[in-house]
Order: sequence, then C-alpha cells, then structure tokens
Amino acid sequence: MTNTPLLAGIELGGTKAMALLACGDTIIDSLRLPTTSPGSTLAALESWLAAAADRHGAFAALGIASFGPLGLHPGRPGHGCITTTPKPGWSHTDVLHRFAARFGVPTGFDTDVNAAALAEGRWGAARNASVHIYLTIGTGVGAGIVVDGRPVHGLLHPEIGHIRIRRRPGDDFPGACPFHHDCAEGLISGPALALRTGTNATRLPAGDPVWPGYVADLAELLTTLMLTVSPDCILIGGGVGLGQQHLLPALRVAVEARLGNYLPDALPLLRAELIRAPLLGENAGPLGAIALAADALAGP
Ligand code: ADP
Ligand code: ZN
Repeated sequence: MTNTPLLAGIELGGTKAMALLACGDTIIDSLRLPTTSPGSTLAALESWLAAAADRHGAFAALGIASFGPLGLHPGRPGHGCITTTPKPGWSHTDVLHRFAARFGVPTGFDTDVNAAALAEGRWGAARNASVHIYLTIGTGVGAGIVVDGRPVHGLLHPEIGHIRIRRRPGDDFPGACPFHHDCAEGLISGPALALRTGTNATRLPAGDPVWPGYVADLAELLTTLMLTVSPDCILIGGGVGLGQQHLLPALRVAVEARLGNYLPDALPLLRAELIRAPLLGENAGPLGAIALAADALAGP
C-alpha cells in the first residue's frame, strides 16, 4: 500500500499532446495524440482521462502544462486560457476551467516549461537547487524558472525565448522569429538551425561548422540568464538540447569568456555543472503536469 495519491496530468504542446496518470514520478498510463483543433484535442484528452479513471481509480488532482502564452493570474481576464498564440484556432481557448469543471478536482495550470522545470526540481537534475532554469530548444525556445520550489509568474510568465541576442559581428542571418527576427528563438531554435544550414537540424553532426557560431549565440542567452536570476543550475532540454549534448562543454567555456573575469566565485560551479542536461528527458513535460497536480492538491 502507498499513500502517494493518484494524480492526472495533461501536457499540451504545439504539435503533440499527452494525458497521463501517475503516482509520484511513476507513470501508470498515458495517451499521446497530435494537437489539432482545440475542440477535438481537448475533448479527446478529457474522454481518455475519464476512461483512465474508470480503469485505475479516481485521481485526486489534475495538472495542465500548456504551450503559451497563458493567462495565469486568478481574477484577471484570460485566466486559465491560452491567450494570443500564432497557432491557428487556439487563441483565447479556456483550458483550465473546462477541465476543472469536468473533473471537479484541484487543478493546476502553468506553462509547459515552468512545469518541466518543476519536475526537474522535484525528481530530476535540479533536486538541490534553490533557483533553477529549464531551457528547452526545439521548434521554439522557452524556459521555466523555479525559485524555492515555485515557478516564476509575475505580470505574465517568463518569455526567455524572445530575449534579444547580441549579434555576432558579420552575421546577417535574418532569423526565424516572425516577431523579432534575431531573438533567441530566431537564432537558436531547430527551425533557425535548419534555415541557416539548409538541412534538418537532426542531421547535423557534432563536427558541423554551424556549431561554433551557435555556441556563441546560445552563450549570450545563458550569460544573460546567469546575470539575471543567478541560477544554481540551467538545464538545456528540447530536441536540440537533448540531441546535441556535445555542445555543453563548449557552452561553459563560452559563458565564462562572456563573464569577462567577473563573478570569479561562480566559476567553479560554471566549469563543473551549472549548465547541464536535464535528467527526465521526454518525461519532463508530462511529469511537470503531475508536479502541478501535486501542488494544486497541496494548496497555496
Ligand atoms: P517540439 O519543440 O516541436 O515539441 P522538439 O523539442 O523535438 O519538439 O524540437 C523539434 C526541433 O528540434 C526540430 O526543429 C528538430 O529539427 C530539432 N531537433 C530534434 N532533434 C534534434 C537533434 N538531435 N539535433 C538537432 N536538432 C534536433
Ligand atoms: Zn522572438
């Protein structure tokens, strides 16, 4: 017998969605499906959760980790919704209240990256951190920040993927972000790599000539993050992050160079493991939803 409650999670991504049941970090059952229209995707997740509860027993709470931008402030317009997204059909979709009303259990709601950061803090690579960042580099670039066990919100939520990156001299790559061109997402996302190299990023070997410049750009972002929130660790996930871990040692060196002999006290940790890979791999997002459920159950 265990006292660990059965919890439910939903990870809503731009291309795929997942529903799961878990006890702690043990996933008991799950469903994966492509993200299509809000009506059909949310209905499919809802009916799978209802059927899964029939099979495994009632779940005590639900957590929803979603692509954003999201309304996270109770009492403000748009709370519980995906607000204005370029993803067709999804702007102003209420996600939180729909599921909370359907299942009647405490329901947590946060960005997919904040949730993944929570999961890495609870069960993964950031277990001893008081401040940590989970950076995902895939189709987009995003990051969650957790301080003392709580994801950072504020006015909206961090949008680290759209921080501007200082241009390398001579680099005139137009950038892949439709809003800012040469923000982090515009310069270091998977699609940016594909645009720059003319090949799918998954096919780029460790020795490809694109990487030194890529390391320089990503190191600009990592240095900004280090100087802004003073994280104990920064985990780099997502398809590019997980698939190109040979970049990690070069990134540590490049960040140290950008600090320019400033913050000598940070150097031993920076040289060792301040910047590292996540531990939960593809489960960071789904388990993040479970962490949100656990927090919703625990209350404020
Ligand atoms: P998504 O962001 O859509 O949820 P991923 O995190 O897998 O999914 O990111 C997909 C992006 O990452 C694509 O642009 C893909 O080309 C790139 N990518 C996936 N695997 C690798 C890899 N091993 N090396 C470099 N880029 C990769
Ligand atoms: Zn941008």
